[in-house]
Amino acid sequence: MIAASDFNITKIERSKLNDINLENIPFGKYFSDYMLEVDYEDGEWKTPEIKPYQPLLMDPSLAAIHYGQSIFEGVKAYKNPAGEPFIFRAYDNFRRFNISAQRMEMPVVPEHIFMDGLKLLIKMDSNWIPSQAEHSLYIRPFMFSTDEAIGVKPSEKYKFMIILSPTGPYYSTPMRIYVEEQYVRAAPGGVGYAKAAGNYGAAMFATAEAKRKGYDQVLWTDALEHKYVQECGTMNVFFIIGNTAITPGLEEGTILGGVTRDSVIVLLKEMGLTLEERSLSLDEVMEAYKAGTLKEVFGTGTAATISLIKELRYKDFVMEFDVTQWKTAPEIKERLDAIRYGKREDTHGWMVKV
Ligand SMILES: *Cc1c(COP(=O)(O)O)cnc(C)c1O
Repeated sequence: MIAASDFNITKIERSKLNDINLENIPFGKYFSDYMLEVDYEDGEWKTPEIKPYQPLLMDPSLAAIHYGQSIFEGVKAYKNPAGEPFIFRAYDNFRRFNISAQRMEMPVVPEHIFMDGLKLLIKMDSNWIPSQAEHSLYIRPFMFSTDEAIGVKPSEKYKFMIILSPTGPYYSTPMRIYVEEQYVRAAPGGVGYAKAAGNYGAAMFATAEAKRKGYDQVLWTDALEHKYVQECGTMNVFFIIGNTAITPGLEEGTILGGVTRDSVIVLLKEMGLTLEERSLSLDEVMEAYKAGTLKEVFGTGTAATISLIKELRYKDFVMEFDVTQWKTAPEIKERLDAIRYGKREDTHGWMVKV
């Protein structure tokens, strides 16, 4: 049970919902009435607050801006046909958040703050979960260092927050992908498995270069040889060769272990495919393409769920696909969506009741 008394709550005077139409709302642009905010100081978390969404006042020496101790998560809440709010696999995001925190030498956030706070916040803002098909409420938990002093060292103070953004369908048209062989997203021993803010800033130049060449995204390759598949932009990637689905494994720590990735692995197995988590070289991908056994290639992530890949360019070799013939990726998306919108039985306990 959520003890609302554990949180300091300040009520809004008037909901911003009166001024916004939630239909076909763009991703990440509008925010709900409330936000959660809690500070870490003197070795402990203070009382969490839920209060009207508002700007932060910050000192220019704020440590996060200078040295980048900053992590985040991406989660979604949905309404079932009865209008009840549910959050998709939020405990998995909670666990991953604290893995990121430890890697960045930041304090872990206790479950009662992250999970109870999240549920309470969603309850208070439940009107912000759109009920239209393909719409959802995007949840952004994040934490950053807040020492007000210049000097490279782990901060003593941190702020954890959760903000909510209603979002319409994320129409992801099939993508043209550039296999990246020069720039690197993550190396063994690095922070690739953490949702650390710096990973995204570091990827922007290579992504923009690929866009300037006419591609939608890069497919990252391994840092050492540029021979093995890693992930696609901010999505994990799956290749279906024959009746086997292959996705790169997580043991090297260079890939972000997506919650969608994990869900897709479960569903692919249920659909009778063989699943392999292992290293996959571009040479193997090319050979399968030439042999006609490379059936489908797609990315997975919370924002778009499943994004089909219609073209893959590796060196001067171009692999093209007729995505209209694909069966597996569209069925996976349908199954996942049906579970999320409460239209198919949730046999895995993925939907967290608010
Ligand atoms: C967030 C993210 C993913 C996808 O993770 P989900 O939990 O499925 O949203 C994949 N790769 C990177 C680099 C990411 O940041």
